[in-house]
Amino acid sequence: MTVREVVEETPRARTIALDVPGWPGHRAGQHVDVRLTAPDGYQAQRSYSIASAPELDTLELTVELVDDGEVSPYLVETVRPGDELEVRGPIGGFFTWSAELGGPLLLVAGGSGLVPLMAMLRHRAARKSDVAAHLLLSTRAPEDVLYREELAQLEPREALRVEHTYTRQPPPGWSGFARRVDAEMLAEIDPGPGAHVFVCGPTPFVERVSTLLVEAGHDPAAVHAERFGPTSGGPRG
Ligand SMILES: Cc1cc2nc3c(=O)[nH]c(=O)nc-3n(C[C@H](O)[C@H](O)[C@H](O)COP(=O)(O)OP(=O)(O)OC[C@H]3O[C@@H](n4cnc5c(N)ncnc54)[C@H](O)[C@@H]3O)c2cc1C
Repeated sequence: MTVREVVEETPRARTIALDVPGWPGHRAGQHVDVRLTAPDGYQAQRSYSIASAPELDTLELTVELVDDGEVSPYLVETVRPGDELEVRGPIGGFFTWSAELGGPLLLVAGGSGLVPLMAMLRHRAARKSDVAAHLLLSTRAPEDVLYREELAQLEPREALRVEHTYTRQPPPGWSGFARRVDAEMLAEIDPGPGAHVFVCGPTPFVERVSTLLVEAGHDPAAVHAERFGPTSGGPRG
């Protein structure tokens, strides 16, 4: 696929928009595998969630820099419009939501774990779905929040609630959550019984939040979890 555009989301994250001729379509929450090949034939492959709504004719990925990583520094710092990437997908069936499934939705993200959840909220907006959707986003500091402006303007506003918690540096004068996600916080953001729950982020974050949600009475079958890493590495060429 050819890179159409690269957008800076935060100092450490870029959105890569790809031209997708012949794309079969995707569901909100799915991911793709991106494979890079070095001039000497060495290959590395990593998964990236699709950030864009299925309704958009461009495929968007948002990649956050992992210091000392093999693949993310290339995607964040080097990739330019016109470059070609080897992309396979869409992949994943369990971690998906579409407006027909209804709500309420409880979305809990740690850092770049927001990416597939944003695809769900963008899909909700594109379909003008008014299902209750509550998002809790945990980041270290405000400058790490992806899609900050879009999150503040997402439609339909009705029944949409977006809450932030800052675990290291809340903004000056902040009176909201400023700690790691805990049971009390989840109880406050919970949209009620029968919620479709999606949790995404670093592995320890996802394990902890999923456990808390099940302890709080959520049906384990309704708690969908996607773990972003660390990975065991891609295939070595
Ligand atoms: C289904 C799925 C969807 C994903 N979607 C996204 C996405 O939308 N955006 C995105 O930025 N990433 C996403 N990831 C993570 C991504 O696949 C890579 O793991 C990440 O970009 C790091 O790759 P790397 O080659 O730069 O680092 P590596 O070379 O693999 O790792 C370098 C070091 O960082 C550690 N590490 C690796 N990954 C992480 C991590 N996520 N957090 C903290 N430490 C880590 C490793 O243990 C290692 O010590 C997703 C992962 C999965 C499984």
